[in-house]
Amino acid sequence: MSEWIVVILVILALIGLVIYKYRRQLQTGWVMWQTFRRLKQQMKPKQKSVETKSRSTDTQLVRCPKCNKWTPQEDSVKLKSNYFCSHACMEESLSFNK
Ligand SMILES: [Zn+2]
Repeated sequence: MSEWIVVILVILALIGLVIYKYRRQLQTGWVMWQTFRRLKQQMKPKQKSVETKSRSTDTQLVRCPKCNKWTPQEDSVKLKSNYFCSHACMEESLSFNK
């Protein structure tokens, strides 16, 4: 049984040596593969538009009571029952109420 372990270790060492020898080629290959994948993703505008469409239906728009600007609920600042577009608007309305 121990012979198998030696054989596996030798094979692993050989693979390691090959990777070490061709590490530069492998690195450039990896970089090229990454660029290729990114290009491929950019080449699919149809799928992207579908994604953004489904996302826009999920996000609810809320109106800032201070400046009447519509902002997605997840980007807004909530105070009690009001949604503000930014912290600045929230603070302004607070100082206004005082
Ligand atoms: Zn605002």
